[in-house]
Parts: sequence; structure tokens; C-alpha cells
Amino acid sequence: MLLKNDYKKIEKIIGNNNILTSKEECYCYSTDSSNMQNAGKVPEAVVFVKNIEEIQNIMKYAYDNGIPIVSRGAGTNMVGSCVCANGGIVLNFSKMNKILEIDSVNMTATVQPGVVLGDLKSETEKLGLLFPPDPSNYRVSTVGGAIAQSSSGAMAFKYGTTKDYVLSLTVVTSDGRIMKLGADTIKDSVGYHLAQLMVGSEGTLAVIAEATLKLIPKPEAHRVVAAYFDEIDNCVESVSNIISKQIFPAAIDFMDKNSIATTEEFVKCGLNTQKEGLLLVELDGFESSMEYQINKTKAALKESGASEIRVSESEEDYNDIWQARRVSFAAATRLAPDVLSDDIIVPRKNFSKMVKKCKEIANKYNLKMCLVAHAGDGNIHPQIALNIEDEDEFRKYTDAKSEMYEYAISLNGTISAEHGVGAEKKNYASKIIDKNALEYMKMIKKVFDPKNILNPNKII
Ligand SMILES: Cc1cc2nc3c(=O)[nH]c(=O)nc-3n(C[C@H](O)[C@H](O)[C@H](O)COP(=O)(O)OP(=O)(O)OC[C@H]3O[C@@H](n4cnc5c(N)ncnc54)[C@H](O)[C@@H]3O)c2cc1C
Repeated sequence: MLLKNDYKKIEKIIGNNNILTSKEECYCYSTDSSNMQNAGKVPEAVVFVKNIEEIQNIMKYAYDNGIPIVSRGAGTNMVGSCVCANGGIVLNFSKMNKILEIDSVNMTATVQPGVVLGDLKSETEKLGLLFPPDPSNYRVSTVGGAIAQSSSGAMAFKYGTTKDYVLSLTVVTSDGRIMKLGADTIKDSVGYHLAQLMVGSEGTLAVIAEATLKLIPKPEAHRVVAAYFDEIDNCVESVSNIISKQIFPAAIDFMDKNSIATTEEFVKCGLNTQKEGLLLVELDGFESSMEYQINKTKAALKESGASEIRVSESEEDYNDIWQARRVSFAAATRLAPDVLSDDIIVPRKNFSKMVKKCKEIANKYNLKMCLVAHAGDGNIHPQIALNIEDEDEFRKYTDAKSEMYEYAISLNGTISAEHGVGAEKKNYASKIIDKNALEYMKMIKKVFDPKNILNPNKII
């Protein structure tokens, strides 16, 4: 527990007006976008760091005094990664939100952890470059959060995930050492890849203070092809059919009938609510290749039984079509007081089986579910609308979720593709990670954080 003297010392490190201490203000930082608000305590202080030296001095103080430290970006993770299991200090990076350099020759961006992904995207795009990872809430979530949570999004199908774009990191360890991990080069074969170890570590191994990220040339043009299907199997088959025609879409996303109807009710964007599934296929590349790619994709979709196909005709049209998918979660929040989204992943050939099983399980437990997915990746987001304060309904939800996880594992899949483990999936993760690997993970945690002060009680 922080004492009066601790507050004084912390304030001395970070200066006036950079700390919140009142219960009311700290309460706002006691939860994130998960349902895990009861899994932690209200933090005792929220500290706004402005540079690496301040992070270092805070860490040294925390280490010496055994104070838990929870790093926090925008707090939008969905698994309770930011809840303060043991109270302590929340490190807030909103004052470390500078893009330090965009090097268009080397195609890299060096940024502070609090940079919002959407800002990085728009700045790089001005130079004809692209940072592909695109969690659908990229307009608010941060680079630090994306790295620590191993986030991705629709474009992972072609461009990979955040881990593929981290070249080097400057981190502060639990005892206050500053370490540069990796190299600012496209290739690096020197030593263990500790920068990659930080990806997905959810703030449990070190604090990320700076990142150098790989960029790629921004494709000249893009279109989205939206195809409706009467049968989910046909919808899924069309993904392989597109690929067999040697077309490599940037993204292949899916919305089920419930999600289409709920989204249409919310935004009135002209979705066909009578269909079982909607597939959104993003094509990109040179403008001159667009017609060729569109024709081949349309042919594959028709062969697989698409009953209605629409191709974006302008940038506005393109944004409108994707907007429907991006607001699907917000739309589902209108169905009940709470919506809990999951992110199971299975090998793509098992995608159809998994989707059907999720629907069967939701029906069995009488749960309202909208299902969206990154179909190209086999990554399924069942969005379950419920009242988490209704004990009976919440029990049904947890039982349903366990059944979905078990089925995903039986299909060679896993329980999180991009949302991470946090506090919420900790118990499941410990069951499915290889026993020996789990022992090694525990040893790694001890090496980096011997006093267990970095985001305690998460992942394992
Ligand atoms: C509506 C909605 C849609 C979403 N869509 C997607 C999606 O399409 N794809 C996807 O992958 N995810 C998605 N997410 C979840 C996604 O994981 C988070 O949104 C995002 O990556 C977290 O970023 P953040 O800045 O909010 O981080 P936070 O939630 O604040 O933190 C996430 C983790 O990162 C750690 N952390 C933050 N900063 C640092 C740092 N500097 N050093 C060390 N650790 C740090 C925290 O301790 C925590 O463990 C969605 C979430 C919402 C609410």
C-alpha cells in the first residue's frame, strides 16, 4: 500500500500535475474493455510519464519498495490485461505520444508507446507508407498496447500481425535498467530475439518505452468486394476458391446473419438482412490490377454460390462497407447491458465447423450471439450480449465459452488469436500451454521480474 511519503517521492520524480491520487480518479483506471472489473483493485496512483528517465526512476522506486506497476495504453484490451490485481501504480503513456521519426528510406517509424495507431497510420500514409496491423479500434488504441497485446486485425491475412513489424524496442526492466532489444534493421540474427519476447507479454516482463517499427509501401489502390451467401459452408468454401485462383486478398472478413441484422439496425447502411453470411474481401495492389483481381474474385465467389455481390465504387463506398464490419461490436452492445467478445482461432479448413459449433452452443444456452470473423485467418469473434450481473446468464456464458474453447482446441486451434490472455483467460491458458513450456514461461517471468511487480497475476 502506498503511504504519504511514497506519493511525495513519486511526485518528485514526475513533477506536479502528473499524478492522480483521488479514489474517484483512480477508479476510472481500475477497469478496461473486459468484464474483469472485479478481478482487481482500484490503483493507488495513476502516473503520467513523459520520458524514459521518468519510467526508469519510477521503476527503480517501485522495485525497491515492492510496488506493483501496470502499464496502460488506451485500456481497450478485452481480457482484463490492465486491471490492477494488487493495486499499485498505473503507468499512463498519454504524454509519451510522439512519432519520433519516420524514415522513408529505411521504411521504419520510431515512436513512443502512447502513439495512437490511427495517428501512426495517417502520418505514414502521407509518405506512401503503411503500418498494416489494424485492430478495428485503431483510432484509439496505442502502439504500446498493440505490441504488448500482440494485436492484429483484418489485414493479418496478407500482411501478418504486430509481431512481424517490431524491429527494435527500448524497454525498462522491473529493476529500472534500460535495454535496447533487437536492431533497427530489416534483418537481425544476433542473439536471442528478446524484442519478439516482449510482443504479447502484456506488460508482465518490461515497460516498452520506445519502438522502431517496420513499414511497407502503401498499396496504390484498394477495393472491397462484399458477397452474400445463403449457406455458411459456401461462404467458407469461397475463401479457398479465391486463393486457388492465385488472388491474395489483404483481408477476408465474415459477418453472420445476426451480426448483419444487428449492424443494419444500428447504422442503416443497406445490408441485406435476409442472408446467412456476408464476406468482405479486400483487394489491393496497383490500380491497373484491380479489374483483373475483382473479376477473378467475383468468379470464385459466384462459383461458390454467392447470391449477391457488391464492389466498392469510390473511397466513400469502400469506407461505408468496411464501417459496417467495424461497428459490429458497437451495434451488438444495443442488445443487452454487456457484450463479451472472444477470439478463438482454428486452422482455416476447420472454420466452418467452428462457426457452426459456436452457433449450436449459443442456442443451447439461449445466449444472444452476433458472430464476426477474420475468415481468412480462421479467427472467430463470437460477440455474446448479456447482463453480466444476472448470475444465471453469466454462468451460462462461462459454460458456453468453455465448450467453445474445448472445441477449438479439439480442432487444433487455440483460445486467443489477437486479444491476449490477461486476467480473463489465465486459467484456460495455463491448461492448454505445453506443460514444459509453461515451466519455461514461469522461469522467464522470474528472470525479468523477480519481485513480481510488473502487471502481476496475468497470463500464467
Ligand atoms: C471495440 C474493440 C475492437 C477491437 N478490435 C480488435 C481487433 O480487431 N484486433 C485486435 O487484435 N484487437 C482488437 N481489440 C483488442 C485489442 O487488444 C486492444 O484494443 C489493443 O491492442 C490494446 O491497445 P491499448 O492501447 O488499449 O492497450 P491497453 O488495453 O491499455 O493495454 C493492453 C496491454 O498492453 C500493456 N501495455 C500497454 N502499454 C504498454 C507499455 N508501454 N509497455 C508495456 N506494456 C504495455 C498493458 O499492461 C496491457 O497488458 C479490440 C478492442 C475493442 C474494445
